[in-house]
Amino acid sequence: MISFSLFMGPPGCGKGTQASKLSKLTSFGSVAHLSTGDLLRLEIKSGSSIGNKIKESVDNGLLVVDSLVLEVLHQEILRLQKINTKFVILDGFPRTLVQAIALEELFSSDPSIVFDKVYWFDVETEILVERAVNRRICKSCGQIYNIKFKQPKIENVCDICEGELYQRNDDNEATIKDRITIYNRETLPLLKFYKDRGVYQRIDAQLPESEISNIIMNHLKKN
Ligand code: AMP
Repeated sequence: MISFSLFMGPPGCGKGTQASKLSKLTSFGSVAHLSTGDLLRLEIKSGSSIGNKIKESVDNGLLVVDSLVLEVLHQEILRLQKINTKFVILDGFPRTLVQAIALEELFSSDPSIVFDKVYWFDVETEILVERAVNRRICKSCGQIYNIKFKQPKIENVCDICEGELYQRNDDNEATIKDRITIYNRETLPLLKFYKDRGVYQRIDAQLPESEISNIIMNHLKKN
């Protein structure tokens, strides 16, 4: 059996930080953080034909076409099933109604998949831009920092692995604003989609990071 939880919310809401943190906790067994954004960035870095096709969209904060994201996601789910992953946090997918329906079909066609809940990270829009422009990520281990609110001990150096920190190409003010507009148009309508299915769980993403982790962990423990 493999259980899926979805982390959804606008860009910069902190869902990636929480997913990454929870995936490192051993108390839940093997937890995979499956971020479609990370998978797409890896694809671009690899220089594959899919990577070349999607680079412009990702750099400009536009959505990658559904069929390509689905293909990349599907391959990753198969890989996780092969290595007996028990628990997956899906971060950044679905982002459109087409993707939500495709995911629902995938889940219902595979009896080994259990669907937990959708944790929806709720944050005021004004905070999002500030969070995202100050975000820095470790090139080696993916740890997420914020140069205003969660600085590394040494500037530009990861506290965990001493890797170099970088800023994503799409974490600039103009692109973030575009990503928020796209989120409001394409992804926010999915809130009703999941509320109607009784699997929606609001997360107050303006609480301190550790409080949010505790709230989510308590939910996960109940399942
Ligand atoms: P993220 O790391 O989740 O902020 O995603 C970064 C970028 O990857 C997005 O702005 C999109 O260009 C692309 N992306 C990630 N997930 C999806 C998705 N589910 N559908 C379409 N594009 C995506």
